[in-house]
Amino acid sequence: MVKVVQRLLFLACCLLSLSLKSEPVNPSHYQVATKADDVVTRVLFDAIAAKFNVSIQYVNYSSFGAALDSVAHGESDFAANITYTEARAQHFSYSRPTNIEYTYLYALHDATLDEVAIVGVPQGTIYAELIKQNYPELRQVPYQGHEEAVELLRSGRVDGVVDAINQLKPMLIEGFAAKMLNDYISIKPVSIVSKRGTYLEELDKFARFIHSEEVQKLLREQIALYQFELRQAALRKSIKQLPIDLNQPIRIKFESLFPYVIYQDDGSVKGLTADAVLQSCRILALNCEVVSQPNESWGTMYQQFIQGEFDILAPLIISRERREFSHFPQPHYWPTSVMVKRLGYKTNVYSDVSQLISERIGVVKDDFFDIMLTQRLPLKDLIRYQTQEDLVEALLAHEVDYIAMDTAMLNHFLRQSELIPIEKDNAIGEFYQSQLSIGLAKNERGELLTPFFSLAISMLDLGKIVATYDLRPDWRTALEYEVRLATQTRFLFFLLLIVAMGVSLYLYKQSNTDNLTGLRNRRSLQVTYRKGVQKDLTILYLDINKFKQINDTHGHRAGDEVLKLLSLKIRRVWEGRAYRIGGDEFILIGYPPKEQLARVIHELSLLNLEYAQFGELSQVTISVGVSEKRSRVVSLEQALHLADEDMYFSKQASRDYSLSHELAAQA
Ligand code: GH3
Ligand code: MG
Repeated sequence: MVKVVQRLLFLACCLLSLSLKSEPVNPSHYQVATKADDVVTRVLFDAIAAKFNVSIQYVNYSSFGAALDSVAHGESDFAANITYTEARAQHFSYSRPTNIEYTYLYALHDATLDEVAIVGVPQGTIYAELIKQNYPELRQVPYQGHEEAVELLRSGRVDGVVDAINQLKPMLIEGFAAKMLNDYISIKPVSIVSKRGTYLEELDKFARFIHSEEVQKLLREQIALYQFELRQAALRKSIKQLPIDLNQPIRIKFESLFPYVIYQDDGSVKGLTADAVLQSCRILALNCEVVSQPNESWGTMYQQFIQGEFDILAPLIISRERREFSHFPQPHYWPTSVMVKRLGYKTNVYSDVSQLISERIGVVKDDFFDIMLTQRLPLKDLIRYQTQEDLVEALLAHEVDYIAMDTAMLNHFLRQSELIPIEKDNAIGEFYQSQLSIGLAKNERGELLTPFFSLAISMLDLGKIVATYDLRPDWRTALEYEVRLATQTRFLFFLLLIVAMGVSLYLYKQSNTDNLTGLRNRRSLQVTYRKGVQKDLTILYLDINKFKQINDTHGHRAGDEVLKLLSLKIRRVWEGRAYRIGGDEFILIGYPPKEQLARVIHELSLLNLEYAQFGELSQVTISVGVSEKRSRVVSLEQALHLADEDMYFSKQASRDYSLSHELAAQA
């Protein structure tokens, strides 16, 4: 038992001594080897220092090889940005890859590897192998250190030098151009190294931390900022050397044109072009002054610019003709041009601008489309307007049928809350892609400043500027508009449907109603009982007695009143259907209870007119015929005939009755 314990203790001691061996002597302080202006190493180890609460001392070495050697010899604890090779693995322990190596082609002028024949490559780096693989035709000249690289470039013995970001600052300060190569050749990710067998735990811990989103983002941002500031400093330095008076402000005129130039209420300008120009001024530390007013006409500004009255006119689309009187830096936007027409106007009629010969075409005077369409349609008289707004109004007012504009501008109009009824001609499509730039006056000052504006514009985050003015049509607005339109259409449809239903109901009623009394008419009776009359339905046939006489004696009007009064009475005492089938004849059909029928007939046989002010006429009698339960379903004619027959007897009786009264009166 004791032996076992002794052995275990011995084992534990061995393990402890082993683990102590791999621990650094001073774990809270590290020395990191760097080369020149090694921003990546600094960003990474500054982050490590903050995260793990350790202190870092950076030691600068003159070359990459010297920095690596210091780690191999144990002078430095770590170096960053090291590509893995079998040979190096003999001397170093590697972390997992931590980041990409930012690599540049440094040259007298901005160039890519396709444009050079001989390149300088730093000795002891992986660049020689990398270029051999990707650009085997390139001749390589090895060099050691920054001075030699500069010497190679200045003497013209190489067209460019390939090196990492640590050379960016010294090279830009020397006045060289730097082109990042990471997009052109796939550069292997790099690692942190330590002397072989040391700091294994740290390498793992640091690499894991560097992989975190937070550090990767920080690295990306810091590198972008670093590059930007370096380039800006280099540009500012070299622009000062120009033989022009930079104290004199750069005078700029902007055309008010959404989304390129927007004048704000406080007098300032913004917009895609305005931002590009003013940010470029800031990069170049130029004193730029906007000397235009929002309402200045394009034509006037354009003429003044040609006369050289100010320095910059913006925006200006690049064209061969305009190069005669303007210098252009590189474009900042590439708008596509379309022909715009009123919604639904001549769909799929034309497929090319040149076919618009018989259409009325509007342009803004002297603007790019004026020149372009004049060239494309030389025989055509274009209709010219002062501003883009005037042009769109002219289209809407049917003064012109087609106008040209770029898609960004069209989208702007389509984005407005109330969509205006214009559209691009899809059959003609995007007929031109122009290069939107700015014009610099055709003089020495303009000529010297132009390449600087090009460089400044190349440094801008144009994607971000474009996104700020969101040039896509607002699909949500468009969609809302469509939904609104659909709802309106649906509402209108339902309204029409209701009106139509109302009208047909009215017409139906009209055709089935007796105008005078409001009761149903003969047509209605025939339609309802066209299939016959049920055997247990009761039919009453009413005919006013001596109605003709009422008409003759009291007038047709009085006759009408009698008909109306009788109808009212019918409505009151009869629960079934009632029809006036013509003249003074009425048909009532229903299921009156047996005990009520006699009373109803009795009531309907006499119409009291005492209160109706018919003069002497105080009452009217009505003959009522009845056809009650029949043995089977009979046709309407048969049923009416039966009731009519009965009515005939009733009429006879009434005649007999009145005759006897008359006789009695005479007697
Ligand atoms: P009888 O007692 O036999 O029924 O005799 P009558 O006078 O009522 O004769 P009959 O029923 O044949 O006459 C109907 C008259 O009703 C004929 C016509 O001049 C009159 N008449 C028809 N339509 C209208 C109407 O809309 N208004 C008025 N005021 N009279 C009408
Ligand atoms: Mg009658």
